[in-house]
Amino acid sequence: MSVFGSFSSGHEHTTPWINSDSLENGLYVSVSPPWVVRKDGDFPISIQIRNIDAAHDVVVKEIRLLGEIPLQVSPYKILHAQGDLLQQVQAAKLVFADDGSVSDQKQFIDLLAKLGREVCETHWFVSGDTKHIRVEIDIIEGGKTRTLLKKIDVNKQPPLPQGGSADIAILIDDLCEQKVVHARSIHTPSWFAGDQHIHTSFSVDAVILDGTEQEPYEYSQYAESIGLDWAIFTDHSNITYSEIWGNRDWFVSSQFDWGQDECKQYRNDHDWLSIYSQELGLGQQGFWDLPSHMLCLPLDHDLAEMLPNPSSGLIYGHADCESEQTIINRINDAGAFGFIAHPYAWAYLTYYEWDWGNGTNGWAGLELICDDEGNYDEEDWSTWHKWHELLNGIALPMNGKLPDRAGWPNRFPVGIGDSDAHEPGKVGRTWTYVAMESVTRANLKDGMLGGHCVASNGPLAWITVNGSFAGDVALMPSEWNDDIVVSIRTNSSMGYAGEYSVDILVNGEVQQTIEPSGTTSYSLDYYVTNLNLESQSKFITLRTTKESFVCLTNPVWLQHTMFGDLDGNGSIGLGDILNIIANWGNCANCLSDLNQDGTVNTADLLQLISIW
Ligand SMILES: [Zn+2]
Ligand SMILES: [Zn+2]
Repeated sequence: MSVFGSFSSGHEHTTPWINSDSLENGLYVSVSPPWVVRKDGDFPISIQIRNIDAAHDVVVKEIRLLGEIPLQVSPYKILHAQGDLLQQVQAAKLVFADDGSVSDQKQFIDLLAKLGREVCETHWFVSGDTKHIRVEIDIIEGGKTRTLLKKIDVNKQPPLPQGGSADIAILIDDLCEQKVVHARSIHTPSWFAGDQHIHTSFSVDAVILDGTEQEPYEYSQYAESIGLDWAIFTDHSNITYSEIWGNRDWFVSSQFDWGQDECKQYRNDHDWLSIYSQELGLGQQGFWDLPSHMLCLPLDHDLAEMLPNPSSGLIYGHADCESEQTIINRINDAGAFGFIAHPYAWAYLTYYEWDWGNGTNGWAGLELICDDEGNYDEEDWSTWHKWHELLNGIALPMNGKLPDRAGWPNRFPVGIGDSDAHEPGKVGRTWTYVAMESVTRANLKDGMLGGHCVASNGPLAWITVNGSFAGDVALMPSEWNDDIVVSIRTNSSMGYAGEYSVDILVNGEVQQTIEPSGTTSYSLDYYVTNLNLESQSKFITLRTTKESFVCLTNPVWLQHTMFGDLDGNGSIGLGDILNIIANWGNCANCLSDLNQDGTVNTADLLQLISIW
């Protein structure tokens, strides 16, 4: 989201240097490492010095990184005094924020863009052992040299959880009593993490509001240090602007091509999945014909070229976009997938909420969480409720599968989490865990379209029902003790798995809450024996929380079958016999084990034949 002066309910983007309190003698200095460093090895930092309100021109003489491996650079860069420009910007912001007009908005942004031009920037890789970053900057002002010192702590944390069998398990019985039991070794998928919604310096709002000058290659270095397994960069393709002091124009196809080339280069250099794409404006809502936003995710292959996103009106040419369906079709025709960005967010004179009455089809999913500080707010709750309403409208599964939906790329709207970061340090503040064998683009596509994924700002949690997990259909034979496992994986930065509570929702209603067990393990399974699923129970989602941590899990779909109907085709027949043979032998908790004695053998075959 973001974009010029988002004075919406939850997501105000502030530009720190226009707040006089964040200036030192009129200078703004920032030292920005990644918000968290989870990967071993060197990590990037960016240092900026801006002359916002100093009385005189200043010269940035030298910038030094202190520590065991000192680094230094001597830019001798002049940052010119800007007169009373800051006061003009502050005044213009107040006017615009108070229901200002379109020209008030333009006045504010043009002045802000001008204010941002006096900047000296440097980027370094810092040794992975660094815990405290200390930077000294020598400034010459009025013939005198003075030294600014900036200190910042590095938030070094262990890698994100990747799944695997639990260290400990807890059985929840009919009375909701919890009892520690031996953890079964069950097949669990591997989970990887990525952020699908990131803006670089090819989004003009990132440059003007957040001071971002980094392009996708450098962003990818941040994303990799943050511990993600992939990143998709989605610059605003409906927002145009021409620099008033320089010669940059946004958003143009040369930026798209450059961004895509940088991502390709990063993939080649680092064997790490960096993908370039767009966030498109679509539709025309309200008096100003404002668009809403959709992420174009080219999951299994790159876009051949920038997708056109014509727009006009207002002052950034960002309104009056083509219809939602036109844009969705364009994304699909390009072999990519549309995910609705921040469905309930809006910003004055900039963009609007998704129009649920627009009658479109063909989009693949939506952002359940979208925040560059990892927050979860009122808008996300609205999305959560709307999403469950949509899931309730999905047709019942048959033969162990959800039916195809004509005109849609997948079988149900998949929920994801993204940061919408407009600066590299905030990438991956919210993300999506996707289950797959290994990180390839083909697997990413299958995992995200199939809903084998989880939106999170920390913990990883999923549910397995009779062997099927998020995105899949679980067969629910009658007269069968359903095997329901809720898995939570965390690390020390998120606290123990046993500190989380889990809402288990059936058809979108909370059916049971697992209270925190207090178990001191980062890897915990709950065996839930009392969920009382009924024939109208259609799908199960999870909401796992502790304080500000939240994890939202895509649905497991339930197909209620008759006892012995192992392939879910509605009758007992050859397919079911083959199913028993395929699972012959030790097969605890698999459906072929009709008598649930832990072994699939002749007894189960005979039992099947008896009900033929
Ligand atoms: Zn965005
Ligand atoms: Zn957006």
